[in-house]
Amino acid sequence: MKDCLFCKIVKGEIPSYTVYEDDLVKAFLDVNPVSNGHCLIIPKKHYENFYDVDDEILTHSRKVANKIYEMFKEKINIDGITVVQNNFYGQAIKHFHIHLIPRYENDKIDWKRQKYKRHVENIYKELIEK
Ligand code: ZN
Repeated sequence: MKDCLFCKIVKGEIPSYTVYEDDLVKAFLDVNPVSNGHCLIIPKKHYENFYDVDDEILTHSRKVANKIYEMFKEKINIDGITVVQNNFYGQAIKHFHIHLIPRYENDKIDWKRQKYKRHVENIYKELIEK
């Protein structure tokens, strides 16, 4: 879809810290994270939200979420994970996406999305380059 930020990320027109990719979905780090390692899973095809996304994509996304959870546990030592999916109000980008928010014991989620911004590149290196 024209002018959709996430479609542009899928096409590679906008760079992303990709942590997983296959024919159906792409997962990349949120550049304004609420915790260290906050990542998004998006379908490569444009769907607006939970209510129009394909069942195949939903099932597949859960499998990908499992893979990423394992990667997080192994590489960045998380204690838990919060899975969030927003629709309509609260959905900033109108392209279906699932938030995977790593949790750490006694963590402080930063809903204003400033605190962990400067760590994104380091987290990416931890996940991908090790
Ligand atoms: Zn899109």
